[in-house]
Amino acid sequence: MTRTALDAVRRGVPPGVAELLDALLAEAERRDVAVHLVGGPVRDFLLGRALRDLDLIVEPRDGQSVDADGLARGVALADAEVVSHDRFGTVRIARGGAAIDVATVRRERYVQPGALPTVEPGSLDDDLRRRDFTVNALAIPLTTAARRGRPAVIDPEDGRGDLAAGVLRVFHPQSFHDDPTRALRAARLAVRLGFRLSRGSRSALRDAVAAGAFGGVSGERYRREIEKLFSDARLGLDPAAALRLLAEWHVLGALEPGLSLPPKARPALRRLGRAIAAPPIEDLRGEPWMAGLALWLADVDATSRRRTLRRLALRGDPAQRLTDFPKRRDRMLRQLARARGRGAVDAVLADASDEELLALLACAEPASRRRILRWANEDRRRRPPVTGNDLVAAGLSGPAVGAALSRIRLGWLDGTVRTRDEAIVLAREVAMRVARRSRSAARKPKQKRATRRASAALPETPASPILPPTPPPNRTLLPERQ
Ligand code: ATP
Repeated sequence: MTRTALDAVRRGVPPGVAELLDALLAEAERRDVAVHLVGGPVRDFLLGRALRDLDLIVEPRDGQSVDADGLARGVALADAEVVSHDRFGTVRIARGGAAIDVATVRRERYVQPGALPTVEPGSLDDDLRRRDFTVNALAIPLTTAARRGRPAVIDPEDGRGDLAAGVLRVFHPQSFHDDPTRALRAARLAVRLGFRLSRGSRSALRDAVAAGAFGGVSGERYRREIEKLFSDARLGLDPAAALRLLAEWHVLGALEPGLSLPPKARPALRRLGRAIAAPPIEDLRGEPWMAGLALWLADVDATSRRRTLRRLALRGDPAQRLTDFPKRRDRMLRQLARARGRGAVDAVLADASDEELLALLACAEPASRRRILRWANEDRRRRPPVTGNDLVAAGLSGPAVGAALSRIRLGWLDGTVRTRDEAIVLAREVAMRVARRSRSAARKPKQKRATRRASAALPETPASPILPPTPPPNRTLLPERQ
């Protein structure tokens, strides 16, 4: 690689990554080891796109016994850490927030379609040919040893021609049989780069779908690719576009029979993509892909949804949350539309996860969107002037504490409780009501729960000196501030 090109690569990455690169290349030069930039970063560099990561490979030449791990551990850079990255001997060298992945050239063989490949030491050519698409099978020699007898760009299958033509092309007709997850990578890359799958590759994909190759892959592997598909929304891409391609290629049905991309889900997924790219909520935690799956599967029939979650090896709490989402979405949107006041909005959203909030934002009407955003960015973090301990210190105990805290929070957000003293007065009123209710329940043990609840909603105490009686749900004392 010419000095100018290396400089361009260095300029394209954060300063911390450039420092790591310099240190690694210096060590490689000292030992006369061949190091290449390879894969996605070369593709992006040649396309003039921003570089996100640097992937390097070490190519032992002339009987050298060096590997990625040995080279990375030899780097003389204070505080640099070398972490073994995967079971194939890839290492990550990291310092501060910066990192570079380094691997040793290898060959992969697919003993069984769909299973992970058998990995063995190989040549640079093997390493390039094991890759998914020709545009990823490119290398740029970075060190003197790597350049010896080599062109400026190593390109065994005319990846540069495909880059210029905007085409994703697999290496051989069995490629999707060997690894059907490449279809998901193809959809993601096609959207990201604005490329199309070549005719031959489309036909290879059709054959793999028809041969049932997609059944042999573990759910975890598909799920990881789906996660990446939604993460790509951070680059400003529409996750619905990649899913649409997968539907068009009949890959969704191959993943799980009956799975589709319902047209109704598309606009919500597009809005979700925009929210992932520019989060409208501060300190948003949670996984974008969970919000994506929630929206996508909400409009799929319940049986397909259940089966798809099982196919993607989703179990336990995440699977339950995704299963429950359609009902929770409908209930929360209904209640949000009716909610009067900030306290009522808080009661609707209090137990929503960040993923649910993202998904709700993507499918809510504008007025409800505004409420969700105001709650998430302002009210969610507002703490009332008293805690449970304060209420215990004020003499409350048992269920009265929780009931009073909820009532105080509602009033605090609506502006009807403004001070600690007002909160304590309200807490005592609530405690009296709770006590009266349990006394009357003890007198009428057979009274139906529904009747008890209805009577509990009615004010029983004399009017508070500072507050009107407890409002029924979704009614507050002040008009809502938009
Ligand atoms: P990104 O910019 O999202 O990191 P990338 O193209 O660098 O995209 P990675 O998922 O980081 O993709 O993979 C690194 C390289 O490994 C790719 O360039 C590709 O050549 C190769 N690769 C990844 N997954 C596969 C696969 N399933 N089959 C063959 N090659 C793969």
